[in-house]
Formats: sequence, structure tokens, C-alpha cells
Amino acid sequence: MTEAVIRLAAALQKLPSVGEKSAWRMALYLLEQDESVSHELAHALIEAKQRVCRCSRCFTWSETDICAVCSSENRDRTTLCVVERPRDMWILEQSGRYRGLYHVLGGVLSPMNGITADSLTVEQLRHRVATESIAEVIIGLGGSNEAETTAHYISRLLAEYPVTVSRFARGLSAGMDLEYADRFTLDQALNERRVINGGYR
Ligand SMILES: [Zn+2]
Repeated sequence: MTEAVIRLAAALQKLPSVGEKSAWRMALYLLEQDESVSHELAHALIEAKQRVCRCSRCFTWSETDICAVCSSENRDRTTLCVVERPRDMWILEQSGRYRGLYHVLGGVLSPMNGITADSLTVEQLRHRVATESIAEVIIGLGGSNEAETTAHYISRLLAEYPVTVSRFARGLSAGMDLEYADRFTLDQALNERRVINGGYR
């Protein structure tokens, strides 16, 4: 096999859920296709990297400084849902059941892996709660131990502000990632959320 094909397969293998076999299958498939297929793929990759940035308010992916959700006039600005990644936000958006705002944390606390509050958007979250008209913060993190720790950390951090901090109901927080939650579970999770911290009102 030529060096270039080996490099292509190695690059493809860096993608999530792509093993060695799949990487080789994709590389050989691309070689057999018309050159325009590779051009389109390469162009889309570079364009996405160049055009997409973080929303400066909620930190989801956006092509504008403030994303469509944050700049929409039809959202409930008193409710903020904290999620781990933009994909969690998109899942909730697809469900169509949540009308509030979001805050993408960028991960969950995991000191063993070097992920501390400083490497997440925790301070930005605190700033938003302090300056925006938010009445309830819903912690929409998964059910891992790290997610639990993060939820409690956020709850303590926000204790000094007049906001209610709640969590998704058991269905979602008992070990299920948002990605795998079906619409019914999402509905239930949103409707039956439990309050961790009632704020000082
Ligand atoms: Zn945004």
C-alpha cells in the first residue's frame, strides 16, 4: 500500500467509533470514487472548522457570535439548562419540549483527568446567573459520578444567587446519557425535575 493511503487511513482512524478496518474501508472507498467526492469532503471539513465558533454566551457551536437560540426572542429567558456538550443541546432542541436557554459546560469535572472548573465554562455560568434574569438552572448532565460531582459543585456555586437549581428526573440522571434518551424520557425528565437548591428567595 502506498504511503498516502496509509496516511489517509490513519487520519480517518482518529475519528470516533472508527476502527482500523472501517478506516481502511473508507480510505479505499474514497480512492475508488471520483475526485470530486474527496474535494467535497475536504472542503466541507475545512469550511466547518473555519466558519464555526463558540457562541460567546452559551458556548454551543455557532456561525455567528451569538447563536440562534441565544438571540431568539421566543425563548424563555428565565430558565437555563446546563449541558455537557453541544450535541446534548441539539438532542433537547430536537425534542421540541424545552423553550429555555442553554449553557454548554464543555465537559464534567474530572480532576483525575485534569478537568477542573477552570477548564470548563463554570465561571461564565456563574456570571450569567449573576447578570441575566435567570430564575431556574436545570442541570442536564448525565448520570456518571463525575456528572453528579459537577452538579453538586454548580449547585454550591450558585447558592448565593436567587435561583432554583434543579436536576433532570431519575430517568435521565440514573446513568443515561442525553444522547440515548428517547423523547418520552426527555419529556419525563423535563417535567419531573427535582430541586437541589431552592435559592434564598
Ligand atoms: Zn448561544
